[in-house]
Amino acid sequence: MNKPVEELIQRLKEPDYKYYGCELSRGEAELAISALEKQIPKKPIEEEKQYSEDYGFNSDILCPVCNNYIGYYTEAMCKPEYMQYCNECGQRIDNDWSGEDE
Ligand SMILES: [Zn+2]
Repeated sequence: MNKPVEELIQRLKEPDYKYYGCELSRGEAELAISALEKQIPKKPIEEEKQYSEDYGFNSDILCPVCNNYIGYYTEAMCKPEYMQYCNECGQRIDNDWSGEDE
């Protein structure tokens, strides 16, 4: 299986998982941590694009972890349209686009 995270989830779901209350391997712990960290929403990156006749001022919205394209924004929109999860790395994206940290 080439999806170690899914494999670990399956193992952790086993009711008699032998490592409960015992040791988790370093690799398993790291996988669990990285998977859980992706559940913590992160603000997406807004990358401004060149002004265009069709869209006016516009931006690409990128994943803050892997820079994958996840959505877009044009000045005609009140807020950007983007995915809740990055389809590349699984990072959860903060859907509160308040722009308060600008
Ligand atoms: Zn990503």
